[in-house]
Amino acid sequence: MRILVTGGAGFIGSHLCDRLISEGNDVVVMDNFITGSPVNIAHLEGNPHFLFIKADISESCQVDGPLDAVMNLASPASPVGYLENPIATMRVGAQGTYNALELARQKGARFLMASTSEVYGDPLEHPQRETYWGNVNCIGIRSVYDEAKRYAEGLTMAFNRTYGVQTRIIRIFNTYGPRMALNDGRVVPNFVAQAVRNEPITVYGDGTATRAFCYVSDLVDGMLRLLWSDEVLPVNIGNPIEMTVLEFAQAVRAAGQPECKSEIAFVQPRAERIADDPQRRRPDITRARSILGWEPKVSLEEGLKLTIEYFRKAIA
Ligand code: UDP
Repeated sequence: MRILVTGGAGFIGSHLCDRLISEGNDVVVMDNFITGSPVNIAHLEGNPHFLFIKADISESCQVDGPLDAVMNLASPASPVGYLENPIATMRVGAQGTYNALELARQKGARFLMASTSEVYGDPLEHPQRETYWGNVNCIGIRSVYDEAKRYAEGLTMAFNRTYGVQTRIIRIFNTYGPRMALNDGRVVPNFVAQAVRNEPITVYGDGTATRAFCYVSDLVDGMLRLLWSDEVLPVNIGNPIEMTVLEFAQAVRAAGQPECKSEIAFVQPRAERIADDPQRRRPDITRARSILGWEPKVSLEEGLKLTIEYFRKAIA
């Protein structure tokens, strides 16, 4: 198969490329490095099954030759990333997704939209099922990401209904692992980098907000199962083990032993950093289990050890 991964130089995208290439596929990556990094794909340069095109899919998304699938991961994805790039985030979700869908239509390729648990906003239903329509502040500062992804889902369904494009929508919940950008501001890179540097672990507010963390290899596995399935409606992929941010800080500190001496510090970040911060988030993965036979396998302890190892090297 020949597969285009937009955003392939990002954290999840680069792991996806590795997996696709290891399974014998040809991979084309398109990325403009707005938040991704050449370092994430440096090991693939020179591989005859790998082609890199530096391009902003909001401007144009063109690839010569056949394509069997287009996987659309291009977008800033961390709150810091999209708050620093609000217009680019809206453009890539809207025009970028349109351009990628048009390419899939022209090539007769499958299309997978990398959507997000952010479509549920600050959810009033818990855990979140795919049937929940969400609670999004459409003019809040997170809306540049949330609404762009909601629009992208709608556009993806429109291409399916209008042109019969074989589309798939994955709603990705919090994912972590090696190659997360050190400075992307999310809770995992922040806490892990702090633990590695023996700095205080910065829990925002009282640390009672909850998240559930999926290791990246599990996520990629679910994403590929969905791509090759027949399921057109959205599927949540994430780890259903929910914990508070404070519990997560303690887990990071424990995983960093015996070296880690970090204390836990309760801090008040800038108001805009936590505006509309979802208070509870946990995927209901009933559909992923029944349709894809998928569930996460990597424990938090195991995943954190691998992530800490990567950050130790990256920081050294
Ligand atoms: N958070 C925190 N300390 C940090 C970074 C994040 O307490 O240094 C909290 C944040 O307020 C939120 C949760 O961790 O409640 C997850 O935030 P993240 O930025 O990772 O992304 P989100 O899941 O909100 O998209």
